[in-house]
Amino acid sequence: MVETIRKLTETFGPSGREEKIRNLILEMIKDHVDGYEIDRVGNLIAWKGEGGEPIIFVAHMDEIGIVVTNEIREGFYRVEPVGGMSPYSALFRRFVLEDGTIGIVGVEHETADEYKKFLSNLNFDHLYLDTMGRKARIGTFGVYDSSFVENEDLMMSKAMDDRSGVAILVELVKNLENPKRKFYVGFSVQEEVGLVGSSVIAYPVDVSEAIAIDVTDSADTPKAFKRISMKMGKGPAIKVKDKMSISDRRIIDRLVKVAEEEGIPYQMEVLIFGGTDAAALMRTKEGIPSATVSIPTRYIHTPSEVISKSDFENTVKLLSAYVQRV
Ligand SMILES: [Zn+2]
Repeated sequence: MVETIRKLTETFGPSGREEKIRNLILEMIKDHVDGYEIDRVGNLIAWKGEGGEPIIFVAHMDEIGIVVTNEIREGFYRVEPVGGMSPYSALFRRFVLEDGTIGIVGVEHETADEYKKFLSNLNFDHLYLDTMGRKARIGTFGVYDSSFVENEDLMMSKAMDDRSGVAILVELVKNLENPKRKFYVGFSVQEEVGLVGSSVIAYPVDVSEAIAIDVTDSADTPKAFKRISMKMGKGPAIKVKDKMSISDRRIIDRLVKVAEEEGIPYQMEVLIFGGTDAAALMRTKEGIPSATVSIPTRYIHTPSEVISKSDFENTVKLLSAYVQRV
């Protein structure tokens, strides 16, 4: 499990540049599924089992990143976020570009006063990527250059959003030898720039429900944000609502019932911002009842997203039981 997450999070794959990560996922699942397809926009979808009420689980394979927008002078570039990246999360970070070039983001300033002023109200106008003299073509994508770290309970890496969700689906197809109903696992592209892949991922399949697997904010630091309740280590979060969708109530009830009957820890989630692929799945064709199961995560969209091993394992358990029992 840990090795799977390490490989998935360390692999390059910002929105729109998912080839490498898709190949890795395919490598991991292809001997454990009955079939797979890559659709015209690059989503990977695989299936397993027969009969019952078919269900699709979706995790997005893209991660946030940057794209080179202009050359200021040789070796110095303006960049723009791909997906939601705060300039504060970018500053003084290393990035790796598609061709392997490593760069560091700095802040332009001529005086100490200007430095202070820019730091207090940072935006991408003041930031540059220093590629140590290497040429970078406009339109080149990059991601945080960050490695995987773990201890007994926790794991930290870039792209836990949403490679932890991807890893859960990889474990799910490996775990379920004889699923009692047909299930699909979808790995969507370009979630971080507006749920692009998931808007079409479920068109070719006939399913009665969809569940997105994604990260959610964990409010468990010393002065934790009080308007949300999710905490790492308390089990998968069954999402009731976020900014973009409200989970189908029947799916929520079934998830809760399965968790209680199987003795799997879980928590209810209301996120006051954000959105997941569920918002797009729900609008597919004549409408697919959809919900989200989330992994509580600290420092989302930074190079060091942290999740709990037990939440990961309990999410795999919950989804496996959900396929087998409903
Ligand atoms: Zn995200």
